[in-house]
Amino acid sequence: MSKPDNPYINSLPGEEMGDLNASKGWRPPVPASSRDRGEGPFKRMVLRGATIIDGTGAPPWGPVDVVIENDRIAALVGVGASLDTINPDRRPAAGDFEVDCHGKFVMPGLVDSHAHIGTPYHSMCGVEPPADYIYKLWLAHGVTTVREMGGLNGLGYTMQQKEASARNDIAAPNILSYAYFPAVNDRVKTIYTPDQARDWVRKLKNRGADGIKFFGAPPTIMQAALDEAAKQGLRSGCHHAQMAVTRVNALKSAGWGLTSSEHYYGLPEALFESQVVQQFPTDYNYSDEYFRFALAGQTFKQAAQPGSAKWKEVMERFLELGHTFVPTFNIYDANRDLMRARRADWHDDYTWKAIWKYFQPQRGGHGSYWYRWSTTNEIEWKENYRLWMQFINEYKNLGGRVCAGSDSGFIFQIFGFGLIRELELLQEAGFHPLEALRSATSLGAELLGIDHETGSVDVGKRADLLVMDHNPLEDFKLLYGTGAWRLNDQTGQPEWVRALRYTIKAGLIFDVDELLADVRELAGDSWGDDEERPPHVR
Ligand SMILES: [Zn+2]
Repeated sequence: MSKPDNPYINSLPGEEMGDLNASKGWRPPVPASSRDRGEGPFKRMVLRGATIIDGTGAPPWGPVDVVIENDRIAALVGVGASLDTINPDRRPAAGDFEVDCHGKFVMPGLVDSHAHIGTPYHSMCGVEPPADYIYKLWLAHGVTTVREMGGLNGLGYTMQQKEASARNDIAAPNILSYAYFPAVNDRVKTIYTPDQARDWVRKLKNRGADGIKFFGAPPTIMQAALDEAAKQGLRSGCHHAQMAVTRVNALKSAGWGLTSSEHYYGLPEALFESQVVQQFPTDYNYSDEYFRFALAGQTFKQAAQPGSAKWKEVMERFLELGHTFVPTFNIYDANRDLMRARRADWHDDYTWKAIWKYFQPQRGGHGSYWYRWSTTNEIEWKENYRLWMQFINEYKNLGGRVCAGSDSGFIFQIFGFGLIRELELLQEAGFHPLEALRSATSLGAELLGIDHETGSVDVGKRADLLVMDHNPLEDFKLLYGTGAWRLNDQTGQPEWVRALRYTIKAGLIFDVDELLADVRELAGDSWGDDEERPPHVR
């Protein structure tokens, strides 16, 4: 029952969105093809005297000598009760590469549970950045694993980059690829029946994908796809788009086996008790992105309130189902304070020209909806966040899994910086900093089904580790590539203080100063010599 006039009906499963973007002349980031940074893996690398934050929620402990053999953590040896009482007899033998970590902190590399290797949309506004720019921003912010959510560049692209990264041929995090499920009316659609959905899922599995990214679908099709995904061992995440949410909200798809709900769409709808449909104004049009994002800020206010019977019942049901939430708080941060997001310190040196241009108000660009953003819009969004954050924090407190994702590349958020902002917002929601880091490490690895491989500092796991000059629990801003703005009382001058010194990915050690310098050069070259730069230029 295929539509003969559908140009994507013959696309390989997972390539539909990539093919659609290509047909518009939008190019994906130039894939990375070689590696100019990172040393190792070493036969034996030893990190000496570190304080460990293990990623499970356990408190810091140390000093510890960490032995890494090739790409694996081979031993964790407590060498004393404090830096002053280290017992030299306990220290493991020398490595062929050593890092002095006395006074430094070591934790697992971060898992960005909702990431995009850029998007072809950026080429609407000029030359898109190379993937190297994105990867180096990630690595410079401690991101050693990403769940690529949607394959907007096409699944083949993501798979090729995933394999190149696994071979350490490129400087990039570990990549898991989730492909766009083409069954939503407002975007590319090639699946019209449950049988087609099952067939598509099987073919996707054969192509090597790790999972499926849904934006919603007609109920019988969504249910069939989720059932088949479970049979094929594929995981899934869904952005419950407003065009599909009345028929399938987050609770319904969780009941059908969906692994995670992305953002927040579909959650307030599951909490509705005095209506079925959001209170859309009659002149609402989903294609008008101002409407889409302004009205999205009103949904939690219309839903069951905290502590109500319905609130508790929905919370309980998600917990029973073992559902995961990936709130990506940071990606809507601009909605509650546009000026803050637009003038963020990092845009000047780190934001690629075409991405900066793409962020500016324009018709037709996804997430560029600042046509008449107002005080009222920002206040509504602040209230939306209060309710949303309360649900997510309670869910965590009751044992539910919440993971950290960034969705960078839209709405004034750029790669790496966005995930650090997510840590700040999880803390704002009520998470202890150790809980926020757990969401971004061990719980992220669980969500992706790779917790036997990464996500915590444990013997036998892959050496995906961060070496930091300062304690990140003190202030997540220390993890920004720009650093935290602090007064130096010795000099009387303010200065930027940055924590992350080395990112170790599968035993390969990257100097973060070098990565940041590379990104500044790349981003700088995207602007002409005498061109005005952010935040002044539009
Ligand atoms: Zn996304």
